[in-house]
Amino acid sequence: MIVYKFGGASVRDAGGIRNLAKIVSDEKENLVVVVSAFGKTTNALEKVLKTWMAGDGDYKDLLDNIYRYHLSVAGDLFPSGNSARSRIDVSFSLLGEYLKTHKKRDYDYEYDQIVSFGEIWSTIIVAAFLQYTGLKAEWTNIRGNLITDNRFRDADILWNESTVRIKSVFNFRGTNIYVTQGFIGSTIAGQTTTLGREGSDYTAALIANILDAERVVVWKDVPGLLNADPKWLPDSCRLEEVSYREAVEMTFSGAKVIHPKTIKPLHNKGIPLYVKSFLVPGEAGTVIKSETALKHGLPVFVKKENQIMVSILPKDFSFAMGENLSRIFYLFIQHGIKVNMVEASAISIDVCIDDDRTRVETLIGDLSAQFSAAYNDNVEMLSIRHYTPEAIERITAGREILLEQRTRSSVRFVVRKT
Ligand code: ASP
Ligand code: MG
Repeated sequence: MIVYKFGGASVRDAGGIRNLAKIVSDEKENLVVVVSAFGKTTNALEKVLKTWMAGDGDYKDLLDNIYRYHLSVAGDLFPSGNSARSRIDVSFSLLGEYLKTHKKRDYDYEYDQIVSFGEIWSTIIVAAFLQYTGLKAEWTNIRGNLITDNRFRDADILWNESTVRIKSVFNFRGTNIYVTQGFIGSTIAGQTTTLGREGSDYTAALIANILDAERVVVWKDVPGLLNADPKWLPDSCRLEEVSYREAVEMTFSGAKVIHPKTIKPLHNKGIPLYVKSFLVPGEAGTVIKSETALKHGLPVFVKKENQIMVSILPKDFSFAMGENLSRIFYLFIQHGIKVNMVEASAISIDVCIDDDRTRVETLIGDLSAQFSAAYNDNVEMLSIRHYTPEAIERITAGREILLEQRTRSSVRFVVRKT
């Protein structure tokens, strides 16, 4: 069997869903189709959440816009009697009711309960459309099957529970196509969780690992993995083959094409990952696998934007390494903050992290008991794999470099945003 994953851009309108149906119908093998929320729905739901959390009644208008967007896509795809429309109505009412009556809990918990609806709506419409075109597709609720811990907004899979359930639900007995949600899961107790932004790729990899898929195909609006974001460096080119190792390094440094957590479950089972364009499905794209024939010596440029560099100094002038280091990183983990880069000297540590203000400010508060902590915001992290002097010059010329780190295969810079 094969796992296909379609991201938000591929299903942002009725045309996109028709294109998805064409790609799916061309595949003759058993398929699990993992789908993200339509277009920018996740961002829009985040706005609903923030407005609602702030006690502002405007969240209703924001939600109504999302509702009308989904209705218009459904309206374009089906005649008015199609049951997908009433399922969408019921699901929106459910969320509306939750927002009206529910006593708010903490941000991360509410995030998962509310933002997860995007994937429910998209999959209802996609599955219904595949059925409408005559395919034997089945909508499957991933909640109750992909079981996670209760770290809301960044949940981790519980392998034993998930393996048993996923194997039993995706059994290909009554159908050869399942349509299910990326990005979301649930705790054993049945509370909805999410796997982190852009987490649908990770869902696809988890399902592939458990079902021993032959391959995973991630359908994107780019022709594959490129050696740089073309919006940044317009002369970037497609990489035909990339090793798992290389792909992890690229995505961890900030390459946005696939979610960094995607590679591990695939590597563990040796399952190749294809990144292909949904605009030209016949083209090769990029394959990520263990052995690559091609040694691309090409420099690979990656930029991670919206970073904060936190500088931490023990107040008592003790060495930064050793116990202080473990205390500091324990706090980062406790606050759910992922470290993108670390540099330590005798008595100071610089850490580059994503600019998530809610989390960063509480972290700094906690650090302040033992350390002086200050941060530079508005910075970016630039990385080059297989660097050359020209490649470095190309991206750092004229930039203010706050931090530089080099190994034999890569170089990283923290620079101020221009
Ligand atoms: N819809 C979610 C997001 O936009 C998950 C995904 O697209 O992978 O982050
Ligand atoms: Mg998305």
